Order: sequence, then structure tokens, then C-alpha cells
Amino acid sequence: MSPRAGRGIRNRAVAIFGGTFDPVHYGHLRAAAEISERLKVSDFRLVPAGRPPHRDGAWADPFHRLAMLELAVASYSDLHVDEREVRRDGPSYMVDTLESVRAEVGAVPMLLCLGQDAANQLDRWHRWQDLLGLAHLVVMTRPRSEPQYPQRLGRVLEASRVKRARDLMRSPAGLVCHVEVTQLAISSTDIRNQLGRGWDPRFLLPDTVLTYIRKHGLYGTDETDPAKG
Ligand code: ATP
Repeated sequence: MSPRAGRGIRNRAVAIFGGTFDPVHYGHLRAAAEISERLKVSDFRLVPAGRPPHRDGAWADPFHRLAMLELAVASYSDLHVDEREVRRDGPSYMVDTLESVRAEVGAVPMLLCLGQDAANQLDRWHRWQDLLGLAHLVVMTRPRSEPQYPQRLGRVLEASRVKRARDLMRSPAGLVCHVEVTQLAISSTDIRNQLGRGWDPRFLLPDTVLTYIRKHGLYGTDETDPAKG
């Protein structure tokens, strides 16, 4: 497959798209592809969380989530997987991730990409008020999620808001841009639920990822059970 989006002149900038990716699906991948192509960042990283601090309940082992993400982007040279949260001990805080990436890349524009549902709850993140000092925020539209910010968070985001995504390329951090991406009402929760019921979530995520899930019996799949195959 020809990774066309990797071609052409790119802005010297880093995009960080964090998530649990439990499992990764086309909602994540299409959003990543569109941001990568539109903003032409030279370095787009998907960063699977190690131990997500905001989630209760069961999720696939971090190394399985990492492996699925690697399978999903394997043929696309503009999208990379950054393993640092999975390799780090303790809870995964985005602020720590941004600090460590910033220390490596210097004063280039850094974009923290997140869906509208995640942005609405940004004030629950560890040291959330430090995030804008480290990166710009790119808030991506997501079906069933309208912008709905608690007052204090809303004020902070509004004060830093720019309309044109290309303005983000003029400084290393501190601005907020809302970007429309193709609306795909896909969620990992729905995929996990489908798999747990023995349904087939094909076409919601890459086949390679689905095959991996079945091979490793993740999310209640069991390849020895023909009804679930
Ligand atoms: P879950 O259902 O387990 O909560 P999820 O589908 O929301 O998972 P996450 O890994 O939690 O996926 O999401 C990581 C990031 O990707 C978040 O910023 C989220 O808003 C964004 N995202 C997830 N799905 C979509 C989608 N369909 N469209 C746009 N953004 C998305």
C-alpha cells in the first residue's frame, strides 16, 4: 500500500494523539489521518496509555493495545506509535508525556490531539493547567459529543482559541483549535461489547486488529468457540 499522506512538504511539528486504544478503531485512525494530512505535521505519534488514570474496569494488557496499534498503522509512514507510556511505570499522565517529548524535540510546535468528549473533561486531567504551556490543543469533533466545558475550563480554552489550524504552526504551544473530522460513531466500548456477545464488529476496525484480538482471545473472544469465530 502506498502511504501517500507521508509525502510532500511537512511542517516541523509533533502531534501527540493519546488514548487507551482498547482496541484501536477507524474512528481513531481516520481522525489521525485527517489531522496528519491537513496540518502536515512531520511527526504524528499515537500514544497508547499504560495504566489509564481515568478508567475503572478491565482493559487489554498495555502490550496488546500497543501491538494492535502497531498493526493498524504498519503501512502508513506518516503515523507512528510512541511506546513511552506503556514502558513507563506508574499511572499514565499526559502532562508527563508532553514534558518528556518536549525535552526531546525542542521548541517546535507540539499539538495534543483529542476528541471532543475527552476535551470536555480536560479539567479532570492531572495538572491540566500545565498542558497549554507544553502544547497546543487540537480538539477533534466526535459524534454525540458537543462542546460542553465546565466554566473554568471553558474560559481557559476560549482565551487561547484560534480559528485556523495553520496558526498553530507559528508557536510551540498555548493555542486551542477545534477541527472537524469525518464523523464516525465508533467507540472501543461498543466494539468490546459486540465481541463479548459473540458478534462480529468487522468494518469498524482493521481486519489485522480483529484477527489479533481473536488470536489472543481478548475481550471475551475465544477462537476455539466456532460460534464466536
Ligand atoms: P472507550 O469507548 O473505551 O472509552 P474510545 O473509543 O473513546 O474508547 P479512546 O482510546 O478512549 O477511545 O480515545 C482516545 C482518543 O480518541 C480520545 O481523545 C477520543 O476522544 C478520541 N476518539 C475516539 N473515538 C473517536 C471517534 N470516533 N472520532 C473522533 N475521536 C475519537
